Amino acid sequence: MEYRNNHHSFSRRNNYSNSYNQKCREFIIKVDTDKIGKLIGKSGTNIRDLQDKTKTKIHVSRSGGIYTTDVTIVGTKEAQNQAKTLIEELLRENHVKTEPIQPITVEEEEKNDEPEIDFTNFNWIEYEREKWAKATPIIKNFYKEDPTITNLTPEQVAHIRKINNSIEVNFVFENKDGSDPGHIPNPIETFEQAFGDYPEVLDEIRKQNFTKPSPIQCQGWPILLSGRDLIGIAQTGTGKTLAFLLPALIHIEGQLTPRSERKGPTVLVMAPTRELALQIEKEVNKYSYHNIKAVCVYGGGSRKKQVDVVTEGVEIVIATPGRMNDLVKAKVLNVSSVTYLVLDEADRMLDMGFEPQIRKTLLDVRPDRQTVMTSATWPQGVRRLAQSYMKNPIQVFVGSLDLATVHTVTQTIYIIEEEEKTDMMYEFIRTMEPTDKVIIFFSKKVKVDDVASNLALQMMEVQSIHGGREQCDREQALEDLKIGRVQVLLATDVASRGLDIEDITHVINFDFPRDIEEYVHRVGRTGRAGRTGESITFMTRKDWSHAKELINILEEATQQVPDELYQMAERYEGWKQKRANEKNYFRSRRENGGGGRW
Ligand code: AMP
Repeated sequence: MEYRNNHHSFSRRNNYSNSYNQKCREFIIKVDTDKIGKLIGKSGTNIRDLQDKTKTKIHVSRSGGIYTTDVTIVGTKEAQNQAKTLIEELLRENHVKTEPIQPITVEEEEKNDEPEIDFTNFNWIEYEREKWAKATPIIKNFYKEDPTITNLTPEQVAHIRKINNSIEVNFVFENKDGSDPGHIPNPIETFEQAFGDYPEVLDEIRKQNFTKPSPIQCQGWPILLSGRDLIGIAQTGTGKTLAFLLPALIHIEGQLTPRSERKGPTVLVMAPTRELALQIEKEVNKYSYHNIKAVCVYGGGSRKKQVDVVTEGVEIVIATPGRMNDLVKAKVLNVSSVTYLVLDEADRMLDMGFEPQIRKTLLDVRPDRQTVMTSATWPQGVRRLAQSYMKNPIQVFVGSLDLATVHTVTQTIYIIEEEEKTDMMYEFIRTMEPTDKVIIFFSKKVKVDDVASNLALQMMEVQSIHGGREQCDREQALEDLKIGRVQVLLATDVASRGLDIEDITHVINFDFPRDIEEYVHRVGRTGRAGRTGESITFMTRKDWSHAKELINILEEATQQVPDELYQMAERYEGWKQKRANEKNYFRSRRENGGGGRW
């Protein structure tokens, strides 16, 4: 029978398990019995993987019912939620996605034992009205449109959007109070048109030697500088960080309360992973403006060090949602002063089960703030988040699937047998040029460790990054590749998002990624900052379900498509059709009362 995603009936037992500490509880979910095999995985691999990642114990009841079977998750509430999300993802049809997840540190485990807020029965309007009645008004509009931009005809505006990666802009929701949503600002084409009134910002941009604003910046800056909420459907590599960052600097300076009197940061950026948070911090630190300071806080890093910096007073806090919650709860960080909020890679944050932490933190942030959200995709969960936390947002969509990056990468596909992969990879490594830098992606941590030790035995120094490694080791691995101490980085998908090393020359997909979006992300790690790059992808017969989507990507980017890939796609379609026919045949036999086969 079909697994009904999102239709589990969850029951909660608040009895504490004797074998765990007092914070651990049991949480039972009902999983369709015919999906239990998939949950357990071959020799229990899936369930072990889930337990490792979420620091839970997962127990499948032996006496499974005809339709559903009880699966008990033991762990802290947060760990249970993560496990639940991962189980849902694992069991979703054609969608198996288990990497990456932020391993829960002991510090983080302890943060979630306060009573849950029942968000469904909460009177938001009353709560917010009382809480913010006396707050100082927020100044949001810092934009003086350049006359050349004001005078553009609608045709010229459409043309600018078209030549900038076909930017699409629109209001995505009905205005909550039914009022006129106003007009979408025209895009700009030069840095001067956006920041003409802010020569110090222009000086900082000039130091970076950029030639022109990227598409998300062309359209995002006028929107954000004029104080509007923005949803940027754009991925890493599109210049999205600078798109929200420069207006944030101006926003910080322009508020009525002097900076020294603010009780906490003015800008809060939430990001899904430590790597991305650190990368944003690095980007912020490239720009110096009125001595504005930024700090990055993330689970797994030294909490004490981060706390010291936060309490010193900084204007920009960049945080992973778990650690953010932790600091707010410990009253180390006061977010009531936040007037500019960024939810970076919102889809990823939801994928990783951070929604409760985001929602809790936002309870303490002023509702009249300016809000920016970026997301690579636009699924239902992200829409919901945007609808609850944004005011009449303007959505800017820059091309589908970050193809701008993929266009600068030569993509080669090898359809081979599983056993051939290792030799081909070693052959590649042996023949690398001294200037080459490569990331090799694998689907499993153990494989990464295996290859790393094999190469070490051959006296070849490489680095590796996966969810099982300590944070400091992961940072060291990235640094080693960045400065060229090693030429090879072995990675699981943990490394594919947000990783920004400019001179990666090659990406090798040793294992085909779990979905085509991940393929685009991985491939986009090379060919960055205007350079060209090469990707090499190994595919085996078992990857046939991805063939069709991969062909679309390759054709769109005018890459060579091997004939075998077309054949693979055809075979898969044929197989799918055959299975559908068989299902229909047996269903109609059952419905027509057909008994046995003879
Ligand atoms: P992001 O999408 O924010 O991860 O940015 C990716 C890289 O693009 C970063 O290294 C930025 O410094 C760089 N970048 C941002 N804006 C521009 C621009 N207008 N032109 C060229 N590079 C840029």
